[in-house]
Amino acid sequence: MAPKTRFAPSPTGLIHIGNARTAILNYLYALKAGGTFLLRMDDTDQERSKPEFADAIERDLAWLGIKWDQLERQSDRITRYQEMADKLKAEGRLYPCYETADELDRKRKRQLARGLPPIYDRKALSLSKDEVAKFEADGRTPHWRFRLANTAGENSLEPVSTHITWDDLIRGDQTVDVGSLSDPVLIRGDGTFLYTLTSVIDDWDFGVTHIIRGDDHITNTGVQVQVFEALGAPVPAFGHHSLLTAADGKALSKRLGSLALENVREQGLEAMAVVSHAALIGTSDAIEPHKNMDGLADLFEVSKISTAPGRFSEEELKGLNAKLLHKLDYADVAERLAGFGIQDAEAFWNVVRGNLEILGDIKQWWEVVDGSIVPNISDAAFLKAAAEVLPDAPFDDTTWKTWTNAVKEATGAKGKALFHPLRLALTGQGSGPEMKQLLALIGREKALKRLQGETA
Ligand code: GLU
Repeated sequence: MAPKTRFAPSPTGLIHIGNARTAILNYLYALKAGGTFLLRMDDTDQERSKPEFADAIERDLAWLGIKWDQLERQSDRITRYQEMADKLKAEGRLYPCYETADELDRKRKRQLARGLPPIYDRKALSLSKDEVAKFEADGRTPHWRFRLANTAGENSLEPVSTHITWDDLIRGDQTVDVGSLSDPVLIRGDGTFLYTLTSVIDDWDFGVTHIIRGDDHITNTGVQVQVFEALGAPVPAFGHHSLLTAADGKALSKRLGSLALENVREQGLEAMAVVSHAALIGTSDAIEPHKNMDGLADLFEVSKISTAPGRFSEEELKGLNAKLLHKLDYADVAERLAGFGIQDAEAFWNVVRGNLEILGDIKQWWEVVDGSIVPNISDAAFLKAAAEVLPDAPFDDTTWKTWTNAVKEATGAKGKALFHPLRLALTGQGSGPEMKQLLALIGREKALKRLQGETA
């Protein structure tokens, strides 16, 4: 069966490079295996979820080159969640609890003070009919907890050790002892559903076979395996990747502005530099830029992902971006260059690409060969002498050598003293692409004017 993976962001903020990494790993998994990829908006938190964040997430993923085969929103599926919740209630796996947040807090404090783990005591399971009636009469609406199968039977609170195990795609054998966890709340007092339930129902209904997500979800997986089983659903395969940390070792948070994909895009970085970085960081492969998803998919093996935290470095991303630009062909960028007004410029691209850090840097070089610049005149007399021996048009790759030999003969200058003032005058800058190729593109007319100090 072809695998199906998914990325399930909560649209409560912009996604950053760490979230994008989860999306990319799932996408590459499906791409490599000829499977499908689902984008699911986990938007049941009505207060914090915003349509504009969902739109931004779609825009960011599309920019990265991720193509989803299906898009679902949890907010469209409430009836289905209700149906499944009713089934779990009927079977006694979901039970009503009336404690207020305050009461629970006090309970936890008492347990801690007595040196006990702060696990929910399942008091609600032993409420009498009268007690329930009193809570209801007081206007309390229950929240609903999922009864973890960690006791000897339905009416027993006698604990049995229940270790949930799975063969993690990334981490190998994993065990979560659900005996050490509180029964999780799956329905809030206001009737809204929690992700732990809705995610499982969706993964089942949409046929998700492989779930790759951050290792902050490991405990959650132990719980969700039990929810799958309680619903009679097949349990998918899980892989938990380590989380990316910022250069200072701290977790990347959604609020980390500069690493939001939107900002990365605005800085002019290439999507495939971001994708290559995110896909290869923390793997056994070298972090090299790839031109497209297919190249990365060929390389992708879930087992290559390390369990140690990956450290994200903005500097490294920028370096990778430059490296990617340096190996792109004209055809890869022609359309975007046309957007800058740069057309029919294959020779130009081949000359300047090696000097670009971001694509936008190219505009200044286009001015040098096709627009006009203010020359940087360091020694007018020297440049005058150089202008006098400037070869006839047309210029080609040999002109620079012929000319600089002639200038050397005429002035006696050599090395840096010979080449540097010429570069400054002709390009306005102290460094850049090879002059031999640049001069051929600048041509005689502009070169002559610039040597004479004119803006040209
Ligand atoms: N909405 C969840 C999150 O953003 C999804 C986790 C998962 O992949 O299951 O953490």
